[in-house]
Amino acid sequence: MPSSTSLKRILVAGGAGFLGSHLCDRLVAQGHDVICLDNLFTSQKSNIAHLLGKPNFEFVRHDVTHPVWLEVDEIYNLACPAAPGHYQYNPIKTMKTSVLGAINLLGMAKRCKAKIFQASTSEVYGDPTEHPQTESYRGNVNPIGPRACYDEGKRAAETLFFDYHRSNKVNIRVIRIFNTYGPRMHPFDGRVVSNFIRQALAGENISMFGDGSQTRSFCYCDDLIDGMIRMMNGPDDFIGPVNIGNPVEFTIKQLAELVLELTGSKGKLIHKPLPADDPTQRQPDISLAKSRLGWEPKVPLREGLAKTIAWFRSIDMSQYRAPTPNY
Ligand code: NAD
Ligand code: UDP
Repeated sequence: MPSSTSLKRILVAGGAGFLGSHLCDRLVAQGHDVICLDNLFTSQKSNIAHLLGKPNFEFVRHDVTHPVWLEVDEIYNLACPAAPGHYQYNPIKTMKTSVLGAINLLGMAKRCKAKIFQASTSEVYGDPTEHPQTESYRGNVNPIGPRACYDEGKRAAETLFFDYHRSNKVNIRVIRIFNTYGPRMHPFDGRVVSNFIRQALAGENISMFGDGSQTRSFCYCDDLIDGMIRMMNGPDDFIGPVNIGNPVEFTIKQLAELVLELTGSKGKLIHKPLPADDPTQRQPDISLAKSRLGWEPKVPLREGLAKTIAWFRSIDMSQYRAPTPNY
């Protein structure tokens, strides 16, 4: 628990989402004065309902594409739909959220002299030709494909962060998040972990896109939030970008088999077409995070999946509105 002199006013944009709500939990528990700002596009208040009565937490329903005027010491920017089905639903809005959202929050950071953090993504590497991916790799993104609204939006946001830093001395932090999962993922977000668990619990077949040989490296949310907070509180000469993710790589088929085993489902693996521009491999090189932040993930996939499955079993899915038809 920080001392009263180190308590800060912190804005979490996108704070009602999957990762944002876990971040709010940590910051509120540390005693900080937390403002959660979210338009609830891909989330719902139930993620933060337990925080609403706390004196050091408040919720503001607002869209980051419009200017924000608040007085804070730190800003975490997580506001952006993250699942392919969500960000492709309204791609122009996705690009606006990344770019205008970054401009509005960076402008606020400049005015308040606040430190500002950007939740960037492994998608800036596109379908990578370097494996595993280090931060110096410049990526292989298709600028006109269906994922570009997200990938290029996040790349432009990184550019804005570094230009505000160089031109206006804004104190920035940028992390590149690799596939992260855990409780409070939206059950209808269409991401692989939520899809497979939801299908397995319903006794349905598991929808494997392509032959399932494509890889991802899955990080449990608690580990990711540790990395975020370490980066925000790290030295001012380390602004990133830094990869934060779990370097243990799995094929999608291996993930499907593990979900079937852990849920005891009798569902079968069925093949569906591979979406356009789906990256064939993804694995973070986390040497930089280890050496500069002393951070590495601790939760193995089997353990994190068991916790996530327990949460999915505990919720009433009929209470979750599907934000888009694309799930
Ligand atoms: P999420 O969809 O659960 O959270 C995003 C939040 O942002 C939601 O609450 C949504 O309502 C809000 N939002 C969207 N557009 C907004 C707008 N215009 N104004 C205000 N709020 C808006 O997804 P998540 O997995 O928690 O992702 C959080 C952040 O981390 C995102 O920026 C995402 O790009 C990044 N990220 C996540 C992952 C991952 O694997 N979870 C990987 C890479 C990057
Ligand atoms: N995927 C799958 N079945 C699903 C959903 C996703 O096989 O029901 C695959 C998808 O094609 C991709 C991987 O799982 O190769 C991860 O997909 P997700 O949408 O979770 O994240 P991203 O592609 O952005 O890493």
